[in-house]
Amino acid sequence: MAKQLQARRLDGIDKNPWVELTKLASDYGSVNLGQGFPDFAPPDFAVEAFQRALSEDYMLNQYTKAFGYPPLTKILASFFGKLLGQEIHPLKNVLVTVGAYGALFTAFQALVDEGDEVIIIEPFFDCYEPMTLMAGGCPVFVPLKLRPSQDGGLDSSKNWQLDPTELASKFTSRTKALVLNTPNNPLGKVFSRAELELVASLCQQHDVVCISDEVYQWLVFDGNQHVSIASLPGMWHRTLTIGSAGKTFSATGWKVGWVLGPDHLVKHLHTVHQNSVYHCPTQAQAAVALSLEREQQHFGQPSSYFVQLPEVTQHKRDHMIRSLQSVGLRPIIPQGSYFLIADISDFKSKMPNLPGATNEAYDSRFVKWMCRNKGLAAIPVSIFYSGPHQKLFDHYVRFCFIKDEATLQAMDEKLQKWKAELTP
Ligand code: PMP
Ligand code: GLN
Repeated sequence: MAKQLQARRLDGIDKNPWVELTKLASDYGSVNLGQGFPDFAPPDFAVEAFQRALSEDYMLNQYTKAFGYPPLTKILASFFGKLLGQEIHPLKNVLVTVGAYGALFTAFQALVDEGDEVIIIEPFFDCYEPMTLMAGGCPVFVPLKLRPSQDGGLDSSKNWQLDPTELASKFTSRTKALVLNTPNNPLGKVFSRAELELVASLCQQHDVVCISDEVYQWLVFDGNQHVSIASLPGMWHRTLTIGSAGKTFSATGWKVGWVLGPDHLVKHLHTVHQNSVYHCPTQAQAAVALSLEREQQHFGQPSSYFVQLPEVTQHKRDHMIRSLQSVGLRPIIPQGSYFLIADISDFKSKMPNLPGATNEAYDSRFVKWMCRNKGLAAIPVSIFYSGPHQKLFDHYVRFCFIKDEATLQAMDEKLQKWKAELTP
């Protein structure tokens, strides 16, 4: 009998929605509101920083320190040290990774053992589940529940809340970690301080590590505040805070991410990193270091990109919210991130039999139909749920609004045409 080539850890995780859906969007040439990336240039200072990194010091073409280019670990430590109210040591408390994906993967590999349970809040950025499984862990899901607004208006991501009793019931003696994502992808929920305090107290009570994915921390709207759970009392020493230069500087192709945390956790991530990736591209790290140094100088001022980006993005969000409603898509207003989810229940009742495989979730059939027939690409929200919950949440689709004005106009044209087809 032939040897089985595929390692068992890959069982059930061979399909990836991003690979499939990104291809679909390009095959049909539709307006791509699916995969999350800005389709406009990063800020000038960041592009210039990359150009300097390429041209000024030829040694930036070579390896640097395994756990991060020193000026980058230094600025990450000082910048986030102030934000988190924590003394951060550039060598002991920081790891630079290949994007936030790299940070997450390293964290799961470093901490999660065979049989360990990892609590994941639904809907969740889809890679948390396969990363838990690849480490041998067991994902335990807890859903955010929608408490619809009573006034008949649009719901906000704020109305999606954790049930404290249900959350508490998920913690067992085998719980190793809880994954938090605020602002959340795909919903755009920004967890309030009170919600974070609940999560923090349960993590402390059960001696659980919090893996806090904060890649959208600067993308917060309507005066909402991003709170890092590591800044809450007693949480620094049990939290890994993950960030991404791709989201921070609208440069997702740079693939520079980082993890900040206490020595006794980060040292295990260093072990994974030195035996896997070892080192991330030096020039991209240098560009991020220069960009963060610039942001530190402008911090809190109108000239800061971290002030400007959410303002501009909020307009794009509002534009999309207005437009989608014209054809009967009902957006949930996101407090943060660059995504919103829209309710497609009306379509589900009026057009229940869209083409697709018999066991395919409705939202997945819907996005394929919309891509082919209406020229708009989006992401089915069921991919952000665990298998057993997918059917319960197959009446939402996710749209990305961090797009150039021309793209948003192209979206409007597609929606106007769609609207005209609806009106007899
Ligand atoms: N976390 C979340 C919540 C994300 O949406 C993404 C997508 N980019 C990542 C992590 C990965 O970030 P990066 O592109 O820096 O690897
Ligand atoms: N984080 C981005 C999103 O949610 C990209 C994910 C990916 O391409 N794998 O759209």
